[in-house]
This record gives sequence, C-alpha cells and structure tokens, in this order.
Amino acid sequence: MSEQPLVPARTREAIPSTDAHRPADGPDLHGPRTNAHGRTPAARGETQSTLARAGEVTPEMVRVAEREGLPAETIRDEVARGRMVIPANPAHSALDPMAIGLKSRVKINANIGSSPTTSGTNEEVGKLRDSLHWGADTVMDLSTGKRITETRRAILDASTVPIGTVPIYQALESVKRIEDLSGDGLLEVIEQQAREGVDYMTIHAGVRIRHLPLVRERVTGIVSRGGGVLAKWMIEHARENPLYTRFDDVLEICRAHDVTISLGDGLRPGSIADATDRAQLAELRTLGELTKRCWDAGVQVMVEGPGHIPLDGLQENVRLQQELCGEAPFYTLGPLVTDIAPGYDHITSAIGAAIVGWHGTSMLCYVTPKEHLGLPNAEDVKQGLIAYRIAAHAADLARGNAAAHAQDRAISEARFAFDWREQFARSLDPQTAQAMHDETLPNDHFKQAEFCSMCGPKYCPMHNVRGVDWDRVEAAADANDHAVGAAG
Ligand code: SF4
Repeated sequence: MSEQPLVPARTREAIPSTDAHRPADGPDLHGPRTNAHGRTPAARGETQSTLARAGEVTPEMVRVAEREGLPAETIRDEVARGRMVIPANPAHSALDPMAIGLKSRVKINANIGSSPTTSGTNEEVGKLRDSLHWGADTVMDLSTGKRITETRRAILDASTVPIGTVPIYQALESVKRIEDLSGDGLLEVIEQQAREGVDYMTIHAGVRIRHLPLVRERVTGIVSRGGGVLAKWMIEHARENPLYTRFDDVLEICRAHDVTISLGDGLRPGSIADATDRAQLAELRTLGELTKRCWDAGVQVMVEGPGHIPLDGLQENVRLQQELCGEAPFYTLGPLVTDIAPGYDHITSAIGAAIVGWHGTSMLCYVTPKEHLGLPNAEDVKQGLIAYRIAAHAADLARGNAAAHAQDRAISEARFAFDWREQFARSLDPQTAQAMHDETLPNDHFKQAEFCSMCGPKYCPMHNVRGVDWDRVEAAADANDHAVGAAG
C-alpha cells in the first residue's frame, strides 16, 4: 500500500529551522507541493524540452521559477537551451517539480537502495524519508537484489522529489549471467520504469568497446557498477555497448514519458592516479555526442562526472564537460580529492563537490562515510547529506546566489546578538547545534549568555566589542595619529 507522499523536512513544523532558513524575500527551494501548480498532462506526449522550445511555459516551469526566485521565462529559456533540466515524469504524481542547471541553486542527490545481501523495501523507504528530512533534492534508487520493482514503486509513491534509477541493475536481476543481457531486455526495463514514473535514468551509453583497452594501465580499472557490467558484456560478446547501438530506441522511450537521461560515466576514475586519463576523456567525448542526440530528439539530458579528482584538476574537469557537452547540466559524484580516508569520504568528496559546484556543476551526488566500505545506514545518509548541503551552499555563495548570502547573514546576525536559539534554528542541523551547546552550558540561563564555553565570559571577543562607540574609537585614532605626527 502506498504511503502518504513525504514533505521535505524544511517544510515541517516540527523542524524549527524550516522557514527560518528562508529569508523572507528569498526563494522557497523546498516548499510544500500544492496542486495549484499542476502538472503537464501525460497524454500530450511532449517533454519539458519540446514545450520550452515551442515557447510554452509549463506548470512545472512556473513551480520551478517560484522555488528558485527566477522569472518563469528564464526557466523556459534555459530548458529550451538544454542548460537546465526539470526531471518530471508525468506519471510521478507525488512530485514537486524542481530544476537542475547553471542558473538554479546547486542541487544534491542522495543514493539509496537495497543490495542483494542487505536491506529491504521498508528500510529503503525509511532512507527516502531520512534523505528528504536532511534536504536531498533528488534521490536515486540504486536497488539491486530480488525486490527491485517493489522497492522502487514504494519509493516513487512516497517521494516528492525526482527519483532516478540505473535500469541496468534491474535488467541484470532478470538474467543469470551478465553475458545473458540483451538490448531488448534493457529497453523493456527502461520502458517499464518510465511507465511507472521514474523521473531520470542513468544510461551508460558512452562506454564504447574501443574505450575499454584504455583502462589497462589504470590503478583501479573500472569502478562504476553499470560501466563494469557493460564492459564485461562487451568483452564476452566482442561487440559494441547495446545501450550505444540502441540509443535511438532509448530516446524514443524517454521522449514518450519525458524521462530525463543522465548520461552515466561508466569509465569514471576510481582513484587519484586515474583522474582525467584517456579513458575518462574518451567517454566524455562520446557523452558530448550523445547529449546532442538527446537534444535533437527533444529529450532532456544531464551528464554524469567523476569520481576521484585532485584539487588542481577540478576546474578543468568542469570546463571540459561544459565545452564537450554544450553546457548540459553536469552531475558529479563528489569528486573525492584524495583516496586516503575511507570512513571519512563524505568529507574528502564534499571538498571537491564545493569546488566543482562553484565552477559550474549543477548537481552533486552525495558520498557517505561508508563509501568503499559498505551499504550506508540511516546515520551515514544523514552525515552524507549534511556534508553535501554544506558543499552545495558554499558553491551557491561562491556563485553569488543572493538567497544563500541572506541565509549566512541571518545566522551571523543571530550569532553576534548572542541569540542562541535563533542560531540553532537557522542552522542546517538545529538539534545537533543545540546539543553541542547544552553539553557544557545546559541551563536555559545560558541561552542568553554573551559567551560560550569556547572562550568564556572574560575572553569572548564578540562580547568585548559589542556596543562599542565606533565614532569615539575613530576620534581616538585620529588624535593618536595627530600626536604621533606632531612628535615626528
Ligand atoms: S566565547 Fe568565543 S566561541 Fe563563544 S560566542 Fe564568544 S567568541 Fe564565540
């Protein structure tokens, strides 16, 4: 049975920071979905892209404009140009439309999904709830194992944010061995998921057989699950990637259901040593070619990216993707800026994510502390999302987003006013912020105190300069200068 659609945490009354996060004159990025915004009727068989190019402002564009604080015509023009996508399958009835693109705020994605050995539908719906609670803008259901369809349907029913999938995982569940996969089988799964309402799909069509020998010298070979499956298929059959050879069929399905294609980076580097190598760039060139085919077919498209990239390679990686893929939205996993910290890869990757976001990445796929080590649990999901909310917000600040700047100013003013409760309420994780303050100063009395346990009352510099008459200080400085000048 379907559960009630979820409302993102920042709209819930129970979360005190909800509206406090949003400056009065800023956009509501996570406001509740209201039917007044409506949806484009599925029967029309058009996509947001074809409608935008025809000059139409759809209900989805109106809703995105409202959430982003931008004119609806700007949203339409960006979608028409292919620089923004609105993943909104008309069959996903609980969806509150959002956008991914250069002109919108930087978005974050959370991956959830069962594995053959761990977790099930209820747990994954629970992770969806957690993901929405902690601010995920989209969620990818990466389930593998026997209950893929059941889990996906439950997630779609419950989700107000776009749901993405990697259809090859389901296709693989229906065959015994990777070699038994077929182009027809893959298309059947893509069509089934499109009919059910999946908003975007990772399609690893850019991994070509001629690219495979380029990974020979790599330290970590192929690290994308989808890329690895297709590589094995191509090696066993000595034939081209079926998602590449049947790409026109994929486009036809995605056009019919307005599914946004997320071109997968099956050859993304899995280590710093492999970053920006020939295999990665060869695939990226193919992704550029496929991007243009999507646009020609009226299908919305974004492009996935690495992976593991050192700090000094981040800006160049964004530039290359934007150049080769005509500024289609870039959707990166991290990137991790070092390989040395398993257990803390939400941090190593959030560093890279903030920088690529600053330079033009439109959506950041979170990485949890469990990366490389195991399937994330609820606490890992929280830690990953908080790290990525910080990264995306830092990128928004660097990109000059006025609403993001207003959020920082508001919390800083509360901090300088020693309005502790306001500071907690405006923070990303109010409960944790308050719990940390309570650890040393638990009494209510200290919630108005002009110090905390960090420096204490005598040394608190913010307290010591509060209420200073700066005109008097300036006059004293002038007098000092005058005295020094006279003495000289
Ligand atoms: S005591 Fe130090 S850390 Fe605490 S509020 Fe004052 S300046 Fe900030």
